[in-house]
Amino acid sequence: MWKKLRIPPISRVTHRLSLGGPMIRLDGKAVAAARRELLKTRVERFVTQHGRKPGLAVVIVGEDPASHVYVKNKVKTTTELGMASRHIELPHTASEAEVLETVAKLNRDAAVDGILVQLPLPKHIDSNKVVEAIDAEKDPDGLTTANLGLLFAGRKRVAPCTPWGVMAILEHYKIPVAGKRVAVIGRSNIVGKPMAQLLTEADATVTLCHSRTKDLAHHTRDAEIVVVAAGKQRFIGRESFAKDAVVIDVGMHRPDSGEFAGKLLGDVKFEELEGHVSAATPVPGGVGPMTIQMLMENTVTLAENRASKN
Ligand code: NAP
Repeated sequence: MWKKLRIPPISRVTHRLSLGGPMIRLDGKAVAAARRELLKTRVERFVTQHGRKPGLAVVIVGEDPASHVYVKNKVKTTTELGMASRHIELPHTASEAEVLETVAKLNRDAAVDGILVQLPLPKHIDSNKVVEAIDAEKDPDGLTTANLGLLFAGRKRVAPCTPWGVMAILEHYKIPVAGKRVAVIGRSNIVGKPMAQLLTEADATVTLCHSRTKDLAHHTRDAEIVVVAAGKQRFIGRESFAKDAVVIDVGMHRPDSGEFAGKLLGDVKFEELEGHVSAATPVPGGVGPMTIQMLMENTVTLAENRASKN
């Protein structure tokens, strides 16, 4: 079942999980860097075979500075990988119809394999409508209902990038998933739900927790792997995890004020984990760097799929 997920194997495994030893820092930055080298080869092969570069188009609406930083990083990574990058900026006054027309044009453009509309969109634009307008065969975020449907039907085209990145970290560090008790905290369509589905596909026994879960700590303490995606800054620590558990922190926060002002924080109090859990992802440097890597991998997968059809 694990093989069905088709995460390309990484030959340079740097650590192996050992119970009772020092806590392993699951280094998403290093995993992403190793995977990037493999992806470059895949891109080169695609160019040789099809005489064009796999192309990613990123659409940004408005002037939100954080979104512009994310988009800049995506454009830079796309170019560094030898892929074609298209960057479309629309003003915050753009109408929903204009954004939909931009997506429609990109759907028709044969040189574009992936279309990403940077979220959040201005309030007057319906994000669901815009995401749904993306051709599912060009949806590297895996967030159209068609692609989520395929994922939940066990016939994945591409999986949403963040949970897919978590699976890649687990695979890289050879952390067994099959038969394990896993708690996922959070049930969003972007992270929690697809995370639970990917883990279930990998034969884990998954408990999906959310804000209405009674006695959350009971579920997390019972789990051998805990994925935390509650979007609540430093809300869970050592006492919530079993001895030797594996902890994956998806949370990302940069508070403006207080003790941690300006710092990138996760949902987990990472500094409490040493000497208790067997492995954990830090923030920054854990799940974050994987998301952009999986976006690039998904774009190349979509390019390969489309090229093999033509
Ligand atoms: P979201 O849409 O806000 O969902 C949060 C989920 O957590 C909801 O399902 C919510 O339950 C649940 N929750 C909230 N408080 C809880 C509590 N006290 N106990 C148990 N469950 C609780 O957030 P998201 O988009 O999934 O993102 C989650 C976090 O991941 C955020 O910090 C986000 O910034 C981060 N993120 C990081 C990356 C990355 O690249 N590293 C990518 C995406 C997201 P209900 O459904 O009951 O409300």
